[in-house]
Amino acid sequence: MSRVYNFSAGPSMLPEWVLKIAADEMLDFRGSGQSVMEMSHRSKDFQAIIDDCEARIRRLLKVPENYKVLFLQGGASTQFAMIPLNLMGEYKKVGLINTGAWSKKAMQELKKYGECALVATSEDKTYTYIPKEYEIPTDIDYFYICENNTIYGTKYKTLPDTKDIPLVADLSSCIMSEPVDVTKYGMIFAGAQKNIGPAGLTVVIIREDLIKEVDNKVPTMLNYNTHANNGSMYNTPPTYAIYVCDLVMTWLEDVVGGLENMKAINEKKAKLLYDFLDQSKLFKGTVVKEDRSLMNVPFVTGDPVLDAKFVKEATEAGLVNLKGHRSVGGMRASIYNAMPYEGVEKLVEFMTQFEKENA
Ligand code: PMP
Repeated sequence: MSRVYNFSAGPSMLPEWVLKIAADEMLDFRGSGQSVMEMSHRSKDFQAIIDDCEARIRRLLKVPENYKVLFLQGGASTQFAMIPLNLMGEYKKVGLINTGAWSKKAMQELKKYGECALVATSEDKTYTYIPKEYEIPTDIDYFYICENNTIYGTKYKTLPDTKDIPLVADLSSCIMSEPVDVTKYGMIFAGAQKNIGPAGLTVVIIREDLIKEVDNKVPTMLNYNTHANNGSMYNTPPTYAIYVCDLVMTWLEDVVGGLENMKAINEKKAKLLYDFLDQSKLFKGTVVKEDRSLMNVPFVTGDPVLDAKFVKEATEAGLVNLKGHRSVGGMRASIYNAMPYEGVEKLVEFMTQFEKENA
């Protein structure tokens, strides 16, 4: 069997440790005589899985007692509607920084329910930086950011100081890549398919006081109360995705040794690639240095024909999904938690050789 190094932005690589356990347990989950896929979500075995998963997320991220951890469906994109439907209140207005496609989609969706105070945008330079100068209005219900911009490869290194206004952040492409101070946020959410597990699961971490009564026209499934009051089991949750998420959290805790260690590994991987880009005469990183993401690394040669040749030859060498997002072009290496250091080494070796042959 030969496995490729998959640089996809998501769904992306899962730790082999996780995949092997999932394979071993496929037909008979720990003596239950059945696969987790076949198991009732109301069973003792599944309750133990979801409880363990939540407990591990709470320990890894040091989630305070007054925050709920919810396991939802509909992808991160469903949160773009669910957040305004639940968190808009007094002002019917939201503050937001536009750092690319995902914050823009969130903005377009929330505008269906109220006003958006767009305080800053980096659209002027194709989202290659994180805006630093802006004022946060006080007449807003919450302030919204996309913390790591998957497509453009930028990341907030310091969070906006929103004072008493709840900060709501999309961590889809950086959750679990480093420790975070959950108390700085009103709510965090993330689609699972990058650093948490398979697609189909969205994790929401929300401060309890933000789970309010909502208009009774809000669909039951889009009301945080529904899920918070029913242990994420109002209806059938994505059971297998939650099980794999539990395995990924087990890997993070017991194999990696927590998020400080994960961060150190991610920094080492990213440094290898960024150091190469900074000295290369052929390849160029597209993001300003201080805002570079540890997870998504976009780069270009400046020549679309050469970019395409690179992507094709890399694929043949077992380095797959390096094509940049269709809105940006060029290349993008997504090096999430599960990408081993050797994968980045192989990529840099390949880029070095390609540069020699195509300079
Ligand atoms: N936010 C970010 C930062 C993303 O990268 C993505 C998709 N990869 C989304 C939201 C949308 O996620 P989903 O496909 O789960 O709706």
